Amino acid sequence: MQGSVLVLGAGMVGVSCALELQRRGFAVVLADAEDPGSETSHGNAGVLTRSSIVPLNNPALWRSLPGLLSNESASLRYQPGYVLRNLGWAARFLLAARPKTFERTVAALDQLIHLSLREHERLLAESAQGARLRRDGWMFLYRDPRRSPGMRLQLEVYRRCGVDVEELDAAAIRALEPALEPIFARGLLVRSAHSVDDPAAVVRGYADLFAQRGGRVLRRRAAGLARQDRGWSVRFDDGSVEQAAQVVIALGPWSAEFLRGSGLRIPMAFERGYHMHYAGAAPGMPALTRPIHDAQAGYVLSPMRRGLRLSTGVELNDLDAPPNHAQLEQAQRAAGQALALGARLDDHPWKGARPTLPDSRPMIGELPRRGLWAAFGHQHIGFSTGPGSASLLGALMSGEAPPIDPAPFAPRRFAGLGRAD
Ligand SMILES: Cc1cc2nc3c(=O)[nH]c(=O)nc-3n(C[C@H](O)[C@H](O)[C@H](O)COP(=O)(O)OP(=O)(O)OC[C@H]3O[C@@H](n4cnc5c(N)ncnc54)[C@H](O)[C@@H]3O)c2cc1C
Repeated sequence: MQGSVLVLGAGMVGVSCALELQRRGFAVVLADAEDPGSETSHGNAGVLTRSSIVPLNNPALWRSLPGLLSNESASLRYQPGYVLRNLGWAARFLLAARPKTFERTVAALDQLIHLSLREHERLLAESAQGARLRRDGWMFLYRDPRRSPGMRLQLEVYRRCGVDVEELDAAAIRALEPALEPIFARGLLVRSAHSVDDPAAVVRGYADLFAQRGGRVLRRRAAGLARQDRGWSVRFDDGSVEQAAQVVIALGPWSAEFLRGSGLRIPMAFERGYHMHYAGAAPGMPALTRPIHDAQAGYVLSPMRRGLRLSTGVELNDLDAPPNHAQLEQAQRAAGQALALGARLDDHPWKGARPTLPDSRPMIGELPRRGLWAAFGHQHIGFSTGPGSASLLGALMSGEAPPIDPAPFAPRRFAGLGRAD
């Protein structure tokens, strides 16, 4: 029997960590203010793919930057005051697009994604959710490839890393997805990509598996963390207290604020995004069968159990700032040119935030506080990389050889997190 662990946060990352630590013999308690999978791990596009090895801050970003600064792009918008208050993060994010750091990130994410896809397959089978998974790839679509500086770079990286992609012309796109209007000149089919039709249900299924195996799940909001002689105590907002030898912080976008109370300064920014569901094609008409990314129009469309999920690009803003639906409206207009969206199915758009560190790599490892572990900062790929992150964290916490190189994800890569104790 290993020691006791309290995992804070039951999104994809926290639930995966809880399962992995339980498998390794730790006595695990999992706590979340909401039901498992209610937040970012609910609202995402549900895509699991090795093509995510190319982060937003890649060398092509520099060429796109003048266009993005107009603040009218569907791919990236920003609240100027937020960026000014986070200039240090923005500068580091841009610097990480330099080829050397970018290549290091590609290699690191490739390892993490590879590991995660294998772990997802195992967990989907163990939680009897194999039917949630589609194995028919996903597509990047380009209306005018000459205006997409990222496409060449993407293709070059995919080929080099052995990601299974096929270049498509207009006819091949239509043959694969007859529901699409003929507005796309080129495309990339990532053949090895998978997707799920209900991300929240997958997280809930993993959490149920953890509970069936004897894990305790608490529905409580953590309010503070204190060091004790033999570990940590966590105070919840209902006044209760839980103690554990070690604590894993998997609070997604809320991780940085929570850790501020322990004197740790996490360089995290929020890439907010929205989604809305639509009824899709009329009965008898062709329907979209796999997720697509309309690269120049900056949205993703994923067929989900509930309907067609339209999710938006990035809005850099405070986590809790009021929603701004301009990007979603813009994406809806563009998606309406691509296919028949049908009626809106939700009363209000969903809003969430991708938690992003300057080098676009998550933070996985021990923080400069003994027994306090990080598992957050998964930007655009936390739904797919939760299980691999858990596998790495589990090995580190057990003192075993890690399955992938932990250095690119180590908290200590950021100087100035806070003094070690
Ligand atoms: C529009 C959009 C599309 C995306 N598409 C994809 C995609 O296709 N594929 C992919 O892999 N990723 C995608 N992502 C990214 C992915 O959703 C995130 O990286 C991932 O969900 C992060 O998971 P998490 O477990 O770290 O955070 P979360 O899922 O946010 O979990 C954190 C949990 O902490 C809880 N919490 C917060 N504060 C407290 C507290 N004080 N006490 C207790 N609990 C607390 C919350 O209730 C929440 O359940 C997308 C994101 C967005 C926004």
